[in-house]
Amino acid sequence: MLVESKPRVAKARSTHRWRHALLVGSVMVAAIGTIGSLVIPRVLAVSYTLTDSVKMRREPRAVSAYDGVAPKSSSVDVLCQQWGEAQGPNGNTLWLKVNGSGRSNWWVSDAWTSSPHKAADKTVGIANVAFCNAPTPAPPASGLPAVSMDTKVWVGAPFAGTWPGNARSTDSLPSMHAPVYTVPGHNWKHDWAMDFYATAGTQVKVFAAPKDNRLDSRITAQVLSVTPTCLRKSTETVAQQVARGGYVVYVGVYDGGVRVGTITYAHVNPAFDASYRGGINRWGGLVGTVGQYTNNSCWQVTKTTGHHVHIELSNENSKNMACYRPGVAQNASLPVNDYIGYLGGAFVTSRKQACPTSA
Ligand SMILES: [Zn+2]
Repeated sequence: MLVESKPRVAKARSTHRWRHALLVGSVMVAAIGTIGSLVIPRVLAVSYTLTDSVKMRREPRAVSAYDGVAPKSSSVDVLCQQWGEAQGPNGNTLWLKVNGSGRSNWWVSDAWTSSPHKAADKTVGIANVAFCNAPTPAPPASGLPAVSMDTKVWVGAPFAGTWPGNARSTDSLPSMHAPVYTVPGHNWKHDWAMDFYATAGTQVKVFAAPKDNRLDSRITAQVLSVTPTCLRKSTETVAQQVARGGYVVYVGVYDGGVRVGTITYAHVNPAFDASYRGGINRWGGLVGTVGQYTNNSCWQVTKTTGHHVHIELSNENSKNMACYRPGVAQNASLPVNDYIGYLGGAFVTSRKQACPTSA
């Protein structure tokens, strides 16, 4: 029996957190201009050409109002990118906010630009272009720690389920299991992964809360991406691909609009359309249900005791890693929203590590 109440001990604010806040700030105000005779390079502007004539949309949606038409082969300066409605022959879901053809701040589907982005990528976007819907950091309320990507956010079990262990694959333990999914917006994989077991149809929910409960109102969650779990074989349709392993739902967790990390749930039948991007309740928000698929290389399950959700966590901070709950006995049953790990903080610096027991 494992019962552990959510740790709520507030710790003194570390200088570490401030260092990151300052770094982020200095990147955002990348200097434009000169100091004495030293020329400071401007942040590289990204421009693409249009591969067709396009309507200058007011929103990243095909049905939105528009202001004129930009001609084929004209140039657009990209301001930022955002996931939106699928467009073009390959279902490209990336949209770009651009200036061009004498207008500013209009939207064009990436499907109609010369950008290097591939329509099949639904999670990463264009490497050197900011996301438009990255929320702006909120100013800290007096007496509270500053908004930070290093804020300690406690993550709970998505359902009443069973930790891996004998009879189930011990390769599924978080100390062993390989993270396989790339963190949205980054080129690295998650910090740790595990399979967590429950029968098909069990509801999968987000549980994330700040360790410092004074920050309760600052912590939010967003669905970042929903993609098929299994790699698509060249011979199969998307429906066949999904039938082999369901979907991966990527949920970003934010402190005051700054992303602290990502919780990723794979082998899920989502509670929303795969095109959904946006808010989800961080405490009990429904992601979907535990799936049941055909036995194949991506879902190696032959018994109902093998039904599981594959969970991955990653910190936004590339140096401090997300960690998992230490000391859980193999095959232990955990209640819904029981502690499984941390996002944020500075608990461990390498992948697949247990959190300290003092975390
Ligand atoms: Zn797994």
